[in-house]
Amino acid sequence: MYVDTHAHIYLDEFREHWDQLISDCADVEVKKIYLPNIDETSIDQVHDLADKFPLVCKPMMGLHPCYVKGNYKDQLKLIKEQFAQRQYSAIGEIGIDLHWDLSFVKEQEQAFQAQIEWAIDLKLPIAIHSRKSLDETISAVEKNQNGQLSGVFHCFNGTVEQAKRIIDLGFFVGLGGVITFKNAGLEEMVKSLPQENIVLETDAPYLAPHPNRGKPNTPVYLPIIAEKVASFRSESIDDVKDYTTKNANLLFGI
Ligand SMILES: [Zn+2]
Repeated sequence: MYVDTHAHIYLDEFREHWDQLISDCADVEVKKIYLPNIDETSIDQVHDLADKFPLVCKPMMGLHPCYVKGNYKDQLKLIKEQFAQRQYSAIGEIGIDLHWDLSFVKEQEQAFQAQIEWAIDLKLPIAIHSRKSLDETISAVEKNQNGQLSGVFHCFNGTVEQAKRIIDLGFFVGLGGVITFKNAGLEEMVKSLPQENIVLETDAPYLAPHPNRGKPNTPVYLPIIAEKVASFRSESIDDVKDYTTKNANLLFGI
């Protein structure tokens, strides 16, 4: 079986097709899907899907950096309260985004730091969003790594050197559709990774893998990403399936 370590399929655009989607995922052996939260407005959606398919869909909870605004402390308070109500697989997605909107960078850094501290207190892994902020997010984890922090850099598209820093931290590298894009230039990085550090993800509905680039993404496309990993690394698809599933279970403490 495969594990999709990062997919937003709780969003409204998927809701009326949930049954079909989960059954299509099972047909291509995608049998576990981790759901990163975005902000306070997505909490109920994440819970609805996780409650409907408790064996397949596992919730995370956190505040996404693109949704960190002036009121972020109120948002964090509301999100933190969720951890007293139910169990989550990870804190996510959290991090820093230097691509979309640079007006709240300080607040993003503070929200990221606060949520890293929750992770240490609650002994939960973190799922990190690092768009155009790999050096910043890696440094933040390095600063906080006390031997107890674990997690994944989701949708990793950095250099061999940045991957090495992540591996030295004991973190996982989440490989998604971006590695399949023509001219992405990520082959050497993918080849450089130890098997022990690789997990797969789709980030659905974003970043559909080639040849579906630009279309809405779904976890059904996860095997396309696995095939690309296998071809870059000259491994069999079964090996990639096995070790990435084993790694995903380690990442989420299963
Ligand atoms: Zn995401």
